[in-house]
Amino acid sequence: MNYQQLLDEAMEAARPVLGRGRVADYIPALASADPGAFGMALATVAGEVHGVGEWVRQFSVQSVSKLFTLALALAHGDGELWKRVGREPSGNPFNSLIQLETEHGIPRNPFINAGALVVTDALQTLTGDARGAVLDFLRAESGNPRVSIDDSVADSEAHHGHRNAALAHFIAHFGNLHNPVETVLEHYYAHCAMAASCRDLALVGTFLARHGLRADGTRLLSRSDAKRVNAVLLTCGTYDAAGEFAYRVGLPGKSGVGGGILAIVPGRGALCAWSPGLDAAGNSIGAMAALDAFTTRSDWSVF
Ligand code: GLU
Repeated sequence: MNYQQLLDEAMEAARPVLGRGRVADYIPALASADPGAFGMALATVAGEVHGVGEWVRQFSVQSVSKLFTLALALAHGDGELWKRVGREPSGNPFNSLIQLETEHGIPRNPFINAGALVVTDALQTLTGDARGAVLDFLRAESGNPRVSIDDSVADSEAHHGHRNAALAHFIAHFGNLHNPVETVLEHYYAHCAMAASCRDLALVGTFLARHGLRADGTRLLSRSDAKRVNAVLLTCGTYDAAGEFAYRVGLPGKSGVGGGILAIVPGRGALCAWSPGLDAAGNSIGAMAALDAFTTRSDWSVF
């Protein structure tokens, strides 16, 4: 298969929508992004990497990091995690407080903010340094030591993070955080503020395409946990639009308000597309269009 040609075609297909949508402006440090920027990368399980557009330019990973915190918490053996967080789509915006009240502090899934806070708390307990664990993992799997945490983004989020702080305190009220709220928020903001490129994230994502095996051949997740993480990505990974993403792209994926979307093709590889212009649900319009075009023109889909 001519991957480079498919990527070129995917970028051409996305071009008419580039610049549409709004960049995330609730975190001031993200508001200056160019909505029309675009990059896309593909990494195969065999180690081949291809890219198009600004595919080596770093952007703010944001909620894509929630996939890595979940995998690491499961890898460190938190068998109790699924008692503390559910696995159902929420049907609400990613930062909603509403369900937490009626569901007694057990977030619907690990990819809404409330669930990601619980997962970050679990990883903090397991490793003593959740942000360090995620950063080390990204650097190792991408082979890129320049993957880093952008402190200005993390600080900006902390200063404007009333809603996340409210979520964390609410969960703590129900006894579902084991570390101090301030510690959990600090590590959560830090892993969301990682700066990485499409190339980096596609390479990191291949552990799920390899059914849980890391780039060096060691096992991170059991085959069945890798299957389960992919399943939760498919149903809950793209905010309140996972149905639309499954319909258009047909892959498990995780999006972030920085404009990145990482999608997994089990047994084949991973794709990461980035463009900062977001739709109303918070998913990148350009990245969705490019992934849609790529999976429509290739046989890279789970369906
Ligand atoms: N750190 C962001 C927040 O909690 C993540 C948002 C996102 O990418 O969904 O608001």
